[in-house]
Amino acid sequence: MKTICAWCEHEGRRVTVAAGDQPDDLTISYGICDQHTARLVSQLHRYFPPRKPAPNVPDTLTA
Ligand SMILES: [Zn+2]
Repeated sequence: MKTICAWCEHEGRRVTVAAGDQPDDLTISYGICDQHTARLVSQLHRYFPPRKPAPNVPDTLTA
């Protein structure tokens, strides 16, 4: 079985993400390559910004 990037294929390229152990197995599965993963994550961060660290709590409130 061979895994190819669905996003790359949509753009007219065929990028193999992972090749199976048996070269005569012509089954194709779909996945996502590193480049498209990074692009997708950056697009998601536009709508869901990464969490910022919690503000420091003054010592007077924790004592
Ligand atoms: Zn891709």
